[in-house]
Amino acid sequence: MDAISYQRAADVNGAIQAAQQPGAVFIGGGTNLLDLMKGGVAHPVTLIDITRLTALQNVETLPDGGLRIGALVRNSDAANHALVRTRYPLLTQALLSGASAQLRNMATVGGNLMQRTRCGYFYDTAFTQCNKRIPGSGCAAAGGFNRMHAILGASPQCVAVNPSDMSVALAALDATVQVSGPNSTRAIPFAQFHRLPGDRPDLDTTLQPGELITSVDLPPPAFSDHAHYLKVRDRASYAFALVSVAAALQMDGHTVQAARVALGGVAHRPWRAGVVEARITGQPLNAATLREAAAAELASAQPLKGNAFKVALAQRAIVRSVLLAAGQTGDFA
Ligand code: SF4
Repeated sequence: MDAISYQRAADVNGAIQAAQQPGAVFIGGGTNLLDLMKGGVAHPVTLIDITRLTALQNVETLPDGGLRIGALVRNSDAANHALVRTRYPLLTQALLSGASAQLRNMATVGGNLMQRTRCGYFYDTAFTQCNKRIPGSGCAAAGGFNRMHAILGASPQCVAVNPSDMSVALAALDATVQVSGPNSTRAIPFAQFHRLPGDRPDLDTTLQPGELITSVDLPPPAFSDHAHYLKVRDRASYAFALVSVAAALQMDGHTVQAARVALGGVAHRPWRAGVVEARITGQPLNAATLREAAAAELASAQPLKGNAFKVALAQRAIVRSVLLAAGQTGDFA
């Protein structure tokens, strides 16, 4: 067992200063970090408890009409907040599809952004080849059991996927992650927050050491009338996505005025489906157009030995989710 020290932060500045110590990490809900510590995957020297930072526990309307969700708002509270349910139903659906009710009651919005991949080789320290856990050691999943792994944007160093449902909705909604560091604050566009693995799969995000997520900001609601989060998984509850699709539309009759589509379960970060968005915008919405758009989006997929099924699954999930977002319930085949 590792010896660790524990500090409770009284305010944001104190938390950030404490985090400058080598080996210091923030702990909020702890639903992922404690698992990693118990499994011998994470070895923090100091835990900075941020759960008492009331400044990060609010949901508030922004001057532009958007919404700020504090980093310490629990997943269940965010999902069920009246302003989220009515203005950003895509986010509510995604949050409620994740984990279990007990975990959602503990997990925070900031922690959800920071949760690590569920690749089995990453969590099992008996395996010595995992570039994410031991940089330079290799990737056991690339030639091993990789049914749950990436089909887009992977690298020879890592084929893991991001496990978050919430993040897929936030990618589609063009959220912004607000962070504070020792010298400044900054706003990170959601598309730049999570990384593709490249040659540094040990880095999941673009956060700098010692930076603290303070909130997630949503732009003014524009997609509340036509939104759907579809999660395809091995069982109906408490399972990570094989593929998920966050779809949000602005419609003028049957014509798509604007589209936001993001995929989960397919890449090291939420995958914004820009090809689909471009192909369906300005077009009458129908299954045939969507099938072509989804096929074009997945044209660059590079499936592994165990997950070729995800390519067709992702295409079908895109078609189904976008049609459901538009309120169509016909032929999805
Ligand atoms: Fe490790 Fe990534 Fe390979 Fe999994 S896919 S074994 S996390 S390097």
